[in-house]
Amino acid sequence: MICPDCGLECRVDAAWLEVSGDNAPDTATLVQRVQRLVCRNPRCTRHGREVAQVKNTMYRGE
Ligand SMILES: [Zn+2]
Repeated sequence: MICPDCGLECRVDAAWLEVSGDNAPDTATLVQRVQRLVCRNPRCTRHGREVAQVKNTMYRGE
C-alpha cells in the first residue's frame, strides 16, 4: 500500500484478529487478520495516521 499523499510505502502500525459469526449458529465463522497501515514519512501530513486497513481472511467456516 502506497501513501496517497507522499507516495512512500506505508508501514504496519497495528494488527489484530477479527472474528465474526461465532455466536450465531446459522452464520459461518469468519476470522480475519486486520492490519492498520500508517504513513512512515515524517514530512507527510499523514505521518502516523491511518492510511488504510487491510483485511486477510484466515479462516472461513462452512
Ligand atoms: Zn505519506
